[in-house]
Parts: sequence; structure tokens; C-alpha cells
Amino acid sequence: MSLPPRKPGRPGWAQGPRARPARGPEQEEQFQALKASLLYCPRCWVATPTRERLLLVLPTGNLYEYLCQQCGTSTGSKTEQERGSMLHP
Ligand SMILES: [Zn+2]
Repeated sequence: MSLPPRKPGRPGWAQGPRARPARGPEQEEQFQALKASLLYCPRCWVATPTRERLLLVLPTGNLYEYLCQQCGTSTGSKTEQERGSMLHP
């Protein structure tokens, strides 16, 4: 007796991708962790932990500057849009 050939499809595959857990607050935490990431400092020549500093408040969002925690050099900036407090003219 010979065995039947295996089918390439996996039987368990079909029950899949819809069973994702809902990501609510976890994603927010990941974003917070991202903000604390290292940025390359041109003066220290290494990636250093940064301090976030509010530089400007614009109608389109807040401009933050990242400063090297070791020497204070600006290592980057970003504009963060404020949600929920938009001005209506
Ligand atoms: Zn530095």
C-alpha cells in the first residue's frame, strides 16, 4: 500500500488572521517608548538619550526639540499635532 501524497495546504492555516487581539492602550505605550529612543549626537559621536523640549507652539502642532542629555546639543526635532484641542475659527 502506498501513502497518499501530502497536500501542500495546511489545515490550520484557514482559521487565522481575524483572531487578532484588539490593540488599544498598548499601542500608546509603544509610542511613548519610541519617544525615549536614542538619537545620534554629532558632538558626542554616539547615540545618546534625549530630552524632549517644547520649542514652539504652532497652530498646526507643537514643535519639540530633542536635546542630548549629555551635552545639550540639539539632535533632532519634531512637530506633534495636538489632538482634541483644535481651534475652530
Ligand atoms: Zn551629546
